[in-house]
Amino acid sequence: MIGILKESCKRVALTPQVCKKISDSLGVKIYVESGAGLQAGFTDDAYNMVAEACNKDEVIGKSSIIISVNPLPLETYRSFKKGTILLSMFEPYNDLEISGSLKEMGLTAFSLDMIPRSTLAQAVDILSSMASLSGYQAIVLGATEMTRVIPMLTTAAGTIKPANILIIGAGVAGLQAIATGRRLGAKVFAFDVRSSSKEEVQSLGAKFVEVEGAKDDAGAGGYAIQQSEEFIQRQKDEIHKFASNSDIIVTTAQLRGKKAPILIEDRTIAAMKPGSVIIDLAQRTGGNTAFTKEGKTVTNNGVIIIGDSDLADQIPEHASELIANNYFNFLKLFVKDGVINVDMANPILDSSMITK
Ligand code: NAD
Repeated sequence: MIGILKESCKRVALTPQVCKKISDSLGVKIYVESGAGLQAGFTDDAYNMVAEACNKDEVIGKSSIIISVNPLPLETYRSFKKGTILLSMFEPYNDLEISGSLKEMGLTAFSLDMIPRSTLAQAVDILSSMASLSGYQAIVLGATEMTRVIPMLTTAAGTIKPANILIIGAGVAGLQAIATGRRLGAKVFAFDVRSSSKEEVQSLGAKFVEVEGAKDDAGAGGYAIQQSEEFIQRQKDEIHKFASNSDIIVTTAQLRGKKAPILIEDRTIAAMKPGSVIIDLAQRTGGNTAFTKEGKTVTNNGVIIIGDSDLADQIPEHASELIANNYFNFLKLFVKDGVINVDMANPILDSSMITK
């Protein structure tokens, strides 16, 4: 029995279409809290065709596996039966208490943000699914918020030059932001500290801006490592030069388990054109500007600064579709014919299990 609860975000962990795939192929029954999918566009009627919509207590009481997009409030977990299996994105490297709390409650938790970023794990990589949509949405949001247009326009009333977009951090979100900016006709420039990102940036038609002397560690699982103070200062100076000419800046620079580096300083924002927009996708781990406010839009010197790492939640239908498929692929690793069998020799299960 698998349960889905209504969450505070707009997304839902399983869509009706994926519920059908799961119940058909894994031999399980699914319970969905009434209204869980409404904000993402999925009605109780749609769920009732393939699952059973019921109230929260019934879902909790009946389910042996409970799946959520984000961790649920600790109070909710207290009402779960001992031994319930949880699937979510617990970020134990940011929330240092979470494993201990869940363990105390006797719950087994898989945190899908802990899986290695490998080819083998791509089908269950929720971080990538969400980062990709957030990168896209960052440009869409920037385009609506800024006081200018993105493409070059030649009209009888004059010619408008194409917008300049600067991407700081060319990981999954950054690359999708580059692709979206290019599709809309912008000139795109991108920074990253990982040398492997250069070719990816260039293949999308953007210009890679190199700051000499970055530390790149192949042993970090693809993640960036902390740079020296001296390097960060040179990088800030370089970003400062580009920023004054940028209409949209998307920042995504994060370090796993550490605070995000501040790469845009006060003087840089002061040098930018009013009406430009910064979308800070690194907000969750502190943000890449000194002005970023969690989930808020602030204006400084006429520059709009949006701090939101979860922009995928603004496109909840497609975001839920991707999450649901990731969870389906994850369930396939340990549920067969309605029976749970967790094989810890599987590197994906082993790396994501944070309590047992
Ligand atoms: P992330 O969210 O941890 O960081 C975003 C980007 O910021 C990264 O590209 C990082 O290098 C960059 N960054 C960090 N500090 C910076 C700085 N000071 N200046 C500029 N940029 C900085 O990254 P992510 O998007 O989660 O991707 C992490 C890695 O995992 C990447 O190497 C990505 O290619 C890889 N990945 C692999 C797979 C796969 O093979 N299945 C899937 C997803 C991601």
